[in-house]
Amino acid sequence: MYSFEFQPYQRRFQTPLVTKHGIWEIRTGIILQLVGESGKIGWGEIAPLPWFASETLVQALDFCRQLPHKITTETILAIPAILPACQFGFESAWEELISPQPEPILASSALLPAGKAALERLPELLNYGTFKWKIGVAPLNEELEIFRQLVTALPAGSQLRLDANGGLELEAAKIWLGECDNLNSKVVEFLEQPLAVNQLAAMQELANNYATPIALDESVTGLPQLQACYEQGWRGIFVIKAAIAGSPSRLRQFLKTYQIDAVFSSVLETAIGRKAALKLAAELNHPHRAVGFGVEHWFVED
Ligand code: MG
Repeated sequence: MYSFEFQPYQRRFQTPLVTKHGIWEIRTGIILQLVGESGKIGWGEIAPLPWFASETLVQALDFCRQLPHKITTETILAIPAILPACQFGFESAWEELISPQPEPILASSALLPAGKAALERLPELLNYGTFKWKIGVAPLNEELEIFRQLVTALPAGSQLRLDANGGLELEAAKIWLGECDNLNSKVVEFLEQPLAVNQLAAMQELANNYATPIALDESVTGLPQLQACYEQGWRGIFVIKAAIAGSPSRLRQFLKTYQIDAVFSSVLETAIGRKAALKLAAELNHPHRAVGFGVEHWFVED
């Protein structure tokens, strides 16, 4: 038996995060605490991302409110798949309680703001070797022009990830991939989710026809979607947002069985969720790829 308590939280971004999904100003979630009979404590975080097919904060709060004050391991393992952020939060709190570990230190990719602001922000982030930039937000020609400036501004040996959040038309995706392939250096590590979730076959064809690798993100939000894309033959990169991917133990089992090219990535969670996600990343992320957790500069100091 574990006693269970929870507390909702809000964290404001320094500047709103602009992506193809819209404008995001405040990160909201739930911090939960499990206390074992021996007095050991495990912290967990529920950090929903409903535009990535997770439950909403309201659904997560409703779930927490209907639980009794004392819960068991069975309660945790029976959380339904429609609440993937809850599955992650409860199970990672329980894992921390039974086997506490320090946060692993992993090379991370820094998230740049969309548009021209990326160029202004870059100088203060040069301690990172890998960067991620959101595309598909402004008109194509405008973004290509900023992209060329960004590539020139990056220190030698840097890697750049382009993330379209599923927002490109097929023709625009081809223009981006052609542009990336034509660069002399291999500066673009991958193009993330160029097309919408229902266009897996077209993304597979792009992956076959261009040298710049493609990563799936929105297509593989949870473990069932990850399994489905793998079964349909996807062998490119998988971006894994552990905090909304559901049960950590089931995710671990799947990734250990199939050894896919995985890049673990943040959902702008707090240090509690990040620690649990990085623990999985230390075991399961592709050994030569940075994890996507360079996001602290997005928050107001608190
Ligand atoms: Mg993405």
